[in-house]
Amino acid sequence: GVYVSWRCPNQKWDCQRVASFSKCFCGHSLQQHDSGSRTLCKYPNCSCKHFAWVPSNPEEVGEFWLRRRKDFKENQWRAKCKCKHSHEEHDANGNHKCTKCSCPCFQSNFLCAACDRRWEEHETFFENVSERRENGLATGIYFLPFSEIPSLRNMVLTGKDDGDVSYIKLQSKLNALTATAADSKKVNAATKNTSLSTTMMTS
Ligand SMILES: [Zn+2]
Ligand SMILES: [Zn+2]
Ligand SMILES: [Zn+2]
Ligand SMILES: [Zn+2]
Ligand SMILES: [Zn+2]
Repeated sequence: GVYVSWRCPNQKWDCQRVASFSKCFCGHSLQQHDSGSRTLCKYPNCSCKHFAWVPSNPEEVGEFWLRRRKDFKENQWRAKCKCKHSHEEHDANGNHKCTKCSCPCFQSNFLCAACDRRWEEHETFFENVSERRENGLATGIYFLPFSEIPSLRNMVLTGKDDGDVSYIKLQSKLNALTATAADSKKVNAATKNTSLSTTMMTS
């Protein structure tokens, strides 16, 4: 299967694990991108040539308080550039020029909740299992996207001191999960889900 993740180059842990419903800079989900070329967006009239993960909810940029606001609407929330325009108002390709003002490239007005760096310092990676193993990155059940385990995701997102610490916490929690799943069927089911979410780009 192909593992899709988002992190800073040379980093040994993922800031985000990308699932099929995860959002691209162009505003469309990974599912809506071509599985052959892996990156081209298939949505009618969308010019996006390369899937690039963007946060799709305030928790992913560490803004946990936003959801408590009475007027908060998740489907209206968008990750924004310093120019105040959303990613959808920037060119899907190249330097991501703003289409509403003279802003030359998307510069996130938020920091990554996992490593505290800006969106533009990250890249979306498409890797196979051996590439990930060579780089010491999580594979198999350890790759379960954070978004599929909300409690783990939140723990990872709030462990802001150091990305490594958060990642180690996640790993040990996953180890514990696997160990305590006395019912082997549970483990099988979890493994099955993982492979589903990591193989969707190969068809
Ligand atoms: Zn698109
Ligand atoms: Zn796209
Ligand atoms: Zn901008
Ligand atoms: Zn702008
Ligand atoms: Zn990060």
